[in-house]
Amino acid sequence: MMLLAEKKTSQMPNELFGNRLLVIDDDPLFGEVIEKAAKGSGFEVVVTADAAGFAKIVRSFRPTVIILDLHMPGTDGIQVLRTLAADRNRAKLVVSSGADGRILEAAMRLGHDRGLNMCGTLPKPMRIESLREMLASFRQVSKELFAIDLADGISYGQLSLKYQPKLDCGLGQFTGVEALVRWHHPVEGMIPPDEFIPLAEETDLINRITDWVVTTAARQSALWQAENIDLDVAINLSTKDIEDLDLPERLSQHCQEAGIDPSSMTLELTETGAMREAIQMADVLTRLRLKGFRLSIDDFGSGYSSLVQLQRLPFSEIKIDQSFVTPMNWNGNCRTIVKAIIDLAKNLGLKSVAEGVEDQATLDALIAMGCDMAQGYHLSRPVAAEHIPALVHGDGNAPVRTAA
Ligand code: C2E
Ligand code: CA
Ligand code: CA
Repeated sequence: MMLLAEKKTSQMPNELFGNRLLVIDDDPLFGEVIEKAAKGSGFEVVVTADAAGFAKIVRSFRPTVIILDLHMPGTDGIQVLRTLAADRNRAKLVVSSGADGRILEAAMRLGHDRGLNMCGTLPKPMRIESLREMLASFRQVSKELFAIDLADGISYGQLSLKYQPKLDCGLGQFTGVEALVRWHHPVEGMIPPDEFIPLAEETDLINRITDWVVTTAARQSALWQAENIDLDVAINLSTKDIEDLDLPERLSQHCQEAGIDPSSMTLELTETGAMREAIQMADVLTRLRLKGFRLSIDDFGSGYSSLVQLQRLPFSEIKIDQSFVTPMNWNGNCRTIVKAIIDLAKNLGLKSVAEGVEDQATLDALIAMGCDMAQGYHLSRPVAAEHIPALVHGDGNAPVRTAA
């Protein structure tokens, strides 16, 4: 039997790798030509002649490349460069002008001295081929630069964890949390994991992220335990993590150093990830279980799953994908699938967890179906560690917990 549903966020176009071109030029024909060529090269394009209002556009559109005309009515390109430098803009900058080549060079030098990422000039009239070549080279660089940024981000404390409580439906209490990583990019602001985890997986940074997440969550867990708050902490593992045969030793070492038992940690693996490379998976996953970690099969139902492997690999829980849970109250098929997965978990001796619970009616239905645990915005959004004790104790504005 195979279960298949559309995967949401992780297969959406990756904004971080986005190629966004802003053209600041008052010549509509020039703008039009560039727009056409750039769209053909896979760029999103905004053309503006508004040199006064461009800063606002830069903030909302977040261009990865800016082509700037040095001659603008009411202002000039040098003033624009000054404003971009004041905002510590990191886009690749290209200056264009029909002016003397020496003026272009002087503008490049000035931008460079102000710390801008000056990448080239486009003399007017421009050769469309030069533009295409330039844009193609920028597309490559964008990813590498972000990988460097991410490596810095890990080293310089730009990662943080949010924790989303998991409700034990039987007890009506929060007994666990899922740790969700965030990256505070110094220029781009908060970047969600769906955008940078795929990059980390491609560039081998994922091991460093996982080490950081497990270490941080284990220390946090020890701090909660010191306050008599016993919570199972769930961590997301990437498929790439499982490829490392030393993973069980690495993770148990982190737990030991933090002074917590691996049995208070659940490792969540996505279903597609969990089902690849069966023998190596089985080796690493079995040793993780031997060391005491619990294993959860995440986003269950959203990829292809072989139920035989599900039975063979040593999972402790099944996490039902939110694409079935969130709409289950108005979509009968989703409700049927959720019920089938809860029953499947029960029959295999696994715990069932429903994520994406966004209203009380869904929670009530899950409880009636015998679901073990629930997680979702209705119960709590992911929050900073310091808010967890109040949620666990039910203080303040704690959300509605269970059916009466
Ligand atoms: P996930 O493991 O499926 O995590 C659940 C995601 O759904 C989280 O998004 C969470 O904020 C969101 N969510 C929770 N409740 C609800 C709800 O009721 N409705 C809706 N619409 N969404 C809800 P987030 O934090 O953006 O994480 C996205 C994905 O990034 C995670 O999906 C996980 O696959 C990955 N991720 C997060 N942290 C890590 C990490 O430390 N390591 C790795 N490898 N992946 C991570
Ligand atoms: Ca997860
Ligand atoms: Ca999930």
